[in-house]
Parts: sequence; structure tokens; C-alpha cells
Amino acid sequence: MFDNLSEKLDKALHVLKGHGQITEINVAETTKEVRRALLDADVNFKIAKEFTNKVKEKALGSDVLTTLQPGQLMVKIVKDELTALMGGETEGINLSGKPTIVLMSGLQGSGKTTFSGKLANFLKNKKSKNPLLVACDVYRPAAIDQLHVVGGQINVEVYSDKENNDPVAIAQAGIVQAKANGNDVVIIDTAGRLAVDEKMMAEISNIHKAIEPQETLFVVDAMTGQDAVNTAKAFNDILNFDGVILTKLDGDTRGGAAISIKSVVDKPIKFIGTGEKMEAIDVFHPSRMAERILGMGDVISLVERAQEQFDEEEARKIQKKIAKNKFGFDDFLKQIQQIKKMGNIKDLMGMIPGAGKALKGLDIDDDAFKHIEAIIHSMTPSERSTPSSLNASRKKRIAKGSGRNIQEVNQLLKQFDQMSKMMKMMQGGGGKKMMQMMGN
Ligand code: GDP
Repeated sequence: MFDNLSEKLDKALHVLKGHGQITEINVAETTKEVRRALLDADVNFKIAKEFTNKVKEKALGSDVLTTLQPGQLMVKIVKDELTALMGGETEGINLSGKPTIVLMSGLQGSGKTTFSGKLANFLKNKKSKNPLLVACDVYRPAAIDQLHVVGGQINVEVYSDKENNDPVAIAQAGIVQAKANGNDVVIIDTAGRLAVDEKMMAEISNIHKAIEPQETLFVVDAMTGQDAVNTAKAFNDILNFDGVILTKLDGDTRGGAAISIKSVVDKPIKFIGTGEKMEAIDVFHPSRMAERILGMGDVISLVERAQEQFDEEEARKIQKKIAKNKFGFDDFLKQIQQIKKMGNIKDLMGMIPGAGKALKGLDIDDDAFKHIEAIIHSMTPSERSTPSSLNASRKKRIAKGSGRNIQEVNQLLKQFDQMSKMMKMMQGGGGKKMMQMMGN
């Protein structure tokens, strides 16, 4: 996420490293580089200029007696300003309606249908809501089918009516059904066009007026940079929407949209989309995003994700198995599934401070575990539960079956063995033993 921008800002802020003092000259030099980095990330010229002026003012006006080094001070100032520019506080979603009506708006392909599903899934799992999805795209039958597929994936009901070509009537009928069936949130997915046009604007405006949503969300593809900001302006003029959803932040986006959109439309970014899967949704936290952009990682989000996926019941079972020496490859597979649910590895790595920079250029597969999984899947159930039974001929068969080579199979077995030993030690008063083993 924002690799280029992070790298350039890092270089810009490096200018001050080693300088004992903040001076007008080194601040000017740094802010010039910061501005260039922002412009390269497709941040609007005016916003970039205002931003660096503020940073300059703060840096020169700051108390020289601070305990921070000039380099650190500058990083802090840039971080605070980036946070403010992206909205300052985290903004939640207003769920006060009975039912709460959420209207999705945005161009075709921005990710509205995908996000409608992600939001329904998020509200269901994290806020214990019972949402209904409503398909209001009357132009593309495939769009209605797509919402049904999404609803099926997350087990959320979808209301649609292919016979009806009036989106206002469909939205209203969806709300009636939600009330009758006790759904407490109605998420209305609408049609988009490839570009802003009058007919689409009139249609979304009519739906908006008729159903009076508590939340009107504008969905935009972050990859479109400055265009994202212009489209946001056009939609906001008509809808006065409540929040922005930035999608496709997992891609190679330059970051301009994330940084500029709030200050242009004065509406908060509420969520971000970071992948095609239903779980790839994050609440947008301006300060955490600023930290990620500055290569400081985002440990809080990482821990939160781990906590969300942590299954206590499962953990207890595993503990028992370890104690009885029964931890096998099936349990190992389950652990891998849990890690995978946290997100793709690249994204997770980006949350570890400094890791983004260290890993730059490395080609990390989105599915880093697929080879390990293939090997385990080629084992028989009894081999999985009793790894010690894996003799040379079995290993050969497994290698062949998984399309990996024998060294990889051996390596996995070795790692598994080490891991099992370590887990066993951690269990039984092993902290001390482990320290001994590590030579302390
Ligand atoms: P709509 O026309 O606005 O409803 O857009 P869709 O929901 O159909 O999304 C368009 C394409 O973008 C689909 O192929 C989605 O899988 C993809 N997409 C949506 N959100 C994301 C995201 O956050 N990351 C990535 N990588 N792809 C996304």
C-alpha cells in the first residue's frame, strides 16, 4: 500500500537526519521533497502546497528545546498533518435508523456491489446486525446476479425484482420487506455508469430523496487518483453524502485519493477495501494510515486482526493436543487457515514497522502457504496425525502428489518437528528450558 509514497517521504525526511538543528534551509529542503512526494502520489497541487506550508510553519515554530531530534520532530509533524488531512478522527457508521438504511453510490466498477457485501458481512459479524441487501441496478441483470452471489457467500438475504425497472420502487419494496422480516439494516446497491452523467445523477438523487437513508456512502476506486476526487465532488454536490469508501487500496495505488478526498469534499473516509474477498474491509483510521504511509507500520490493526480471528475453543483443543503429543498436520493446516483469514501476507507485512521497506522488491506471493498446503493435502489422514510414520517412500509419494520436490517436503517436516518441540516446551514450564536451549 502506497509503497512509492512511503519511500519518497522516507527519503525526504532523511534530509534532516544527522542535522543537529532545524534551520530554515534544511526545513525548506525537506518540505520541498515532501511536496514532490505528494505530487508524485497524485495529490492535488493546492493541497500539497498547503500541506507543506503548514509543515514548514510548525517545524520552524516548534520549540527547539524539544527532546526530539530534528529528523524525528519532522516525522512527527508530517504524521500529525497527514492525519489531520485524512480526517483526524475515525468516523463510524450511523446505525440509528429502524431499520438503518444505507445507500451506496459511485461509478460502475468502483466496487459498490463488492463493498455492499463486505459491509453486510462486517455488520453481521462485528455489530450483530441482521442486514438485507437490495439490488437496484435495473440495467445490468448480471449486477443483480452478482449481489445474489455475494449474499450467498456471506449468508445474507438479498432482495431483488428483475421484473421491475424502477429503482426507486425496488428500493422502497426492499425496505418494506426488511421491516416485515425484522432486518435492522438495509444496504441498497445502485447502478453506476462509467462516468458521471446527468441521468445517473438524477436516478441516484431520486432514490436518495425517496428513501431518506441514514448513511449515504460514496464508493470510489483509489486507483483512479485525481479522478476519484473529481467524481467525489460531483456526487457530493448532488447527494451531500455522509462518507467515502475507498476501494482497491491493496493494489498499486499511489495514495493521492486517500490523502486528498477529505479536504476536497469535507466528508470522512469511513472504510477501505483491501481485496476482493468479503473479509477485505477495514475501518479507516486516519492516524494509523498516516503511520503506515510513513513506514511506521500499524501494529494496532495487526493485533486487532489477530484477535478477531482468534478462536478460543480451537486454541484450547490445540493446547490439549500438544500436551498429549497429538499435534498433527491437520492442526497445523487449521493454524494456517487462521493466519490466512487475517489477510494477505503482503498486507500483514505492511503493518509491521519497518517491514515494508525491508521487504520491498521481494516477490511475496499472495498465497504464501499454498506449497505447504499442497504438501499436507497429499498426505493420508493417518500420516497427518502421525508424522513420524513418514518414511522415505512416503515422502517421495507426497512430493510427487503435491508437485513439490523432496527437499521441500523434508524442510516442512523439519520445521514442523521444531515447532512441535517448541510448543511442547512452552506448555510445560518450558520457558526456562527454552531459554537454555537458546543459549541464555
Ligand atoms: P460495482 O460495479 O461498483 O458494483 O463494482 P464491483 O463490486 O463489481 O467491483 C468491480 C471489480 O473490482 C470486481 O472485479 C471486484 O472484485 C473488484 N474489487 C472491488 N473491491 C476491491 C478491492 O478492495 N480490492 C480489489 N483488488 N478489487 C476489488
